[in-house]
Amino acid sequence: MVEICTIGGYNEVGKNSTAIKIGDDAYVFDLGIHLENYVKYTQDEDIVDISPKELMKAGAVPDISAIEDWKNNVKMILPTHAHLDHLGAIPYLANNFKAPIMCTPFTSEVLKGILTEDKIKLNNKIRSMSANSSFQANNVKIEFVHMTHSTPHTVMIALHTKEGIILYANDFKFDLFPTLGQKPNFKRLEELGKQKVLALICDSTYAADARKMPSESIAKEMLREVMLGIDSKNKHVVVTTFSSHIARLKSIVEFGQKMNRKIVFMGRSMAKYVRAAEATGIAKFTNKVEVLKFSGQIKRKLKKIAKDRGKYLMVVTGHQGEPKSTLAKMMNNELKFKFFPEDHIIFSCRTIPTPTNIANRQKLEADLRTFNVRIFKDIHQSGHAAREDLRDLINLVKPQHIIPAHGELRMTSALADLAVEMGYKKGQNVHVMGNGERLKL
Ligand SMILES: [Zn+2]
Repeated sequence: MVEICTIGGYNEVGKNSTAIKIGDDAYVFDLGIHLENYVKYTQDEDIVDISPKELMKAGAVPDISAIEDWKNNVKMILPTHAHLDHLGAIPYLANNFKAPIMCTPFTSEVLKGILTEDKIKLNNKIRSMSANSSFQANNVKIEFVHMTHSTPHTVMIALHTKEGIILYANDFKFDLFPTLGQKPNFKRLEELGKQKVLALICDSTYAADARKMPSESIAKEMLREVMLGIDSKNKHVVVTTFSSHIARLKSIVEFGQKMNRKIVFMGRSMAKYVRAAEATGIAKFTNKVEVLKFSGQIKRKLKKIAKDRGKYLMVVTGHQGEPKSTLAKMMNNELKFKFFPEDHIIFSCRTIPTPTNIANRQKLEADLRTFNVRIFKDIHQSGHAAREDLRDLINLVKPQHIIPAHGELRMTSALADLAVEMGYKKGQNVHVMGNGERLKL
């Protein structure tokens, strides 16, 4: 029998985690943080030692008490990719399980980077396996299927069991023109569809969005337009984006070089992801870019940049207005940077619409506008599948059951509605579930 437990990410975008039990063996897919709750919790209080129990109570990490009775059955922890809402809780929760962590090389490098930086010791071994490969573990075969997403080395995980395949598809987009790495492995999905896919656990974040999510190459063209098409001679130019988005950073560097500017990456998380990308050979930045991690270094560099307007491209953390990020600090006394009218500030992102983010971004933009700078917003395409991509996935793998994941009720319901449109029946073979529920198949 196959039993699925929805631990987290079924009532919200964040703290993703799902456990699947086959016979006596259980597997945990993703252990992510809820970024907003996590930041709120760790900033509100002056905490030296962050306790997992408190984090669970604050809704910052998945509540693994949902699988208390499976604790000793867990054989492996499988984060699908390097985003914090998929692996950020591993440092706090993995020690509860006597099981190794298995993920792709980039994901493993990012995880190791977090553990080193936060001085956290895990008893779990971290193993890595490339996309498009598989291994036999006890009574199941675990397969990583290469996918495109907004961070490298993202996979869908196919769990091959006697009862059929469980396909865990969080997160992905179907990018036909990726700017870094291969296209999604459609061929393999089609092959899986010819076997028996018992269940599809699936990203529903943009299930209500009636379109195909545009490719990363579109985002690259949008960047090209603002970075190369608009005159920025003798102006300061700042770009801010997701630190984990290596493909985007690579495009920014390509255009920065064409602009004949010295490129400087500034911020802790930027340094962390760039290091992981280099260690795994995904991208090379060091000979093209200066990467600065600490405030002191950044402060000295900004003094230099201030005197040499028009010579540098500043690539900084802080696209959501996060108060501890480089861009936010440039606006306050910590790094105090003086912009001039018509300097360029490019937001290569979308504001993630949570109340905290919206408030932070409003404050940041208001501060920037006091200098009368030019702001270019939404130079971005999402890394998530939209409704018509989700339809393609369902047609390819023909799952017997669909479990919408990665979203609030309105998102999971939208995927369920799509499935119903395609002939599935709610409650029978489409299962809209909340956190901490179980489903036997
Ligand atoms: Zn993701």
